[in-house]
Amino acid sequence: LMDTGEIVAMTDKYVMNTYSRIPIAPLKGVGARLTDAAGNEYLDFVAGIAVNSTGHCHPKVVEAICRQASELLHVSNLYHIRAQAELARVLVENSGLDKVFFCNSGAEANEAAIKLARRYSRVAGGADAYEIITAVGSFHGRTMGALSATGQTKYHEGFEPLVPGFSYVPFNDLSALEAEVSDKTCAIMLELIQGEGGVHPADPQYLEGVARLCRESGLLLIIDEVQTGIGRTGSLFAYQQYDGLKPDIVTLAKGLASGVPIGAVMATEEVSAGFGPGKHASTFGGNPLACAAALATLDVILNDGVLDNVKEVSAYLIQRLQELQASTGAIADIRGRGLMVGIELKEAKAAAVLAACRKKGLLVHCAGDKTLRLLPPLIIEKSDVDEALRILCGVLSELQ
Ligand code: PLP
Repeated sequence: LMDTGEIVAMTDKYVMNTYSRIPIAPLKGVGARLTDAAGNEYLDFVAGIAVNSTGHCHPKVVEAICRQASELLHVSNLYHIRAQAELARVLVENSGLDKVFFCNSGAEANEAAIKLARRYSRVAGGADAYEIITAVGSFHGRTMGALSATGQTKYHEGFEPLVPGFSYVPFNDLSALEAEVSDKTCAIMLELIQGEGGVHPADPQYLEGVARLCRESGLLLIIDEVQTGIGRTGSLFAYQQYDGLKPDIVTLAKGLASGVPIGAVMATEEVSAGFGPGKHASTFGGNPLACAAALATLDVILNDGVLDNVKEVSAYLIQRLQELQASTGAIADIRGRGLMVGIELKEAKAAAVLAACRKKGLLVHCAGDKTLRLLPPLIIEKSDVDEALRILCGVLSELQ
């Protein structure tokens, strides 16, 4: 058995230094609880950054993975994959979109969406339109295409030249978006709540304007639901909470298979026709193991009352946070939807709050130096909120 110090040392020695890692090494998870190598227990309000949607090791997900692993782990997309077809059907029946492509991560899903938008507009539209407008503060992933789509220069530095054909306009500013559209534009790509950018929701009126602009100018609307999707905001997909918002392409990953790597692109029948045999592919995409885990995840989320739980626990969490805001004076703003919540502090103390919470057994995440992010598993209960808020309240008053 290795202790935390040995695991940290081995990571530092052999793993590339791309994360400022927190010095704990979780070894076991159940529901919203993690136990680390030192035997400490944590209440997990990070959930792998919105991945462990059904909690750690949900019995139905574990059972599905074990069963699938004992039958067939992988087979090529040269053949038909039963679990993949079933998963695509569940996604289609619950989304209003028509076809799905499977890959392995959020960045890959966005990469596929970018390629699909370009191919569709050239093949179907016959126009040489390939530019995609995204938002300042957005985050779409780390592959060169998804990175180029990301509207934050700090992630671009040193990786130039970026993929051409992307431009960035201020989020929630319809005039800026309208002014950027040209005959080279093929799509607009947005998150409905910017996650990595600091938990900033899109205004409903802005989205109405975006939908109208796309309709009138013949542009595709790509919604990145990598973080907001799969129940995170209280509906299976966040776009379902905005009247009249009908995306042409939606990307998914993170929570879709409770922690088994998977990504997906959903699109309308018409737009899907942009891809044909040989135009896009992924060796692992939609393999039996990942799809079995995703099917079990969606079964839990759609049939075990998880969406209602998200709405109920979210309302309670926001109410308790507002009370905390009133009583401590440390909180400038509370933003988000469902169980995707940002707490903007008045002072740049996010790192200190994170560390102090961890010492008291609560894991939270941050965006920048001012905003705390809560992304708990969707199965948490009000008593978990009480416990988290007790710790956070203590930490905020100690740090004042
Ligand atoms: N899109 C959004 C909205 C995200 O939040 C993320 C990851 O944080 C990504 C894309 C990239 O996903 P992945 O890390 O799985 O490539």
